[in-house]
Amino acid sequence: MSIAIPHAMLRELQRLPNWTEDVVRILHGPGVGSVWVRVGQFTITPKPIRAIGDAIKKGTIKVYYDPKMLMAIKPSAAYYDGGYDAMFTSFVDTSTIGRKAVLVHEAVHAINDMKKRASILHVDDEAAAYTAQMMYIRGTGVRAPIRLTSTTTVVDDIYRTAFAVADAIFAGTGHPTTELEALRTAIRAHPDYTSSANATVGYNGI
Ligand SMILES: [Zn+2]
Repeated sequence: MSIAIPHAMLRELQRLPNWTEDVVRILHGPGVGSVWVRVGQFTITPKPIRAIGDAIKKGTIKVYYDPKMLMAIKPSAAYYDGGYDAMFTSFVDTSTIGRKAVLVHEAVHAINDMKKRASILHVDDEAAAYTAQMMYIRGTGVRAPIRLTSTTTVVDDIYRTAFAVADAIFAGTGHPTTELEALRTAIRAHPDYTSSANATVGYNGI
């Protein structure tokens, strides 16, 4: 269910056709095929990621360039809002794998909204998104032990544990419960997520 973005905010945002096409291309592109993650009862597979690309193409999910990230609750590179059914990005280029992977991360949130996963906890929504982000990076050819890093310890802990989940899935040793629990712990420790981690996100469909 989509609500309208207030006009005052809309004036600060841009819908750029070329950028929207780029986002669709990424979500339909190679690398997405490597993303298969299950968190609790919820799965993320390539098919719904491509379906988010379709929804963006149709305009049922909108992509806005939000250079100041005014629509994000917390500072971030990109943000998906299940109320507005929209993805907001602070960038309009896909020059790095990292940026493409951020779009895949946000697409996971969009999937959980599209599938009306009203009961998914914020910590699991993020665990699925971060794992998908890292599986995408691996799928584009970035092999272990090379990984995304951050100089901020709490962020780096999320990256490190998310790669551990991704690599365990790729290793095919079954559902990586230990690694997933470590990722959840890292997400809960991040101040952006601590207070809302064990609450539902409130996804209501698109
Ligand atoms: Zn997220």
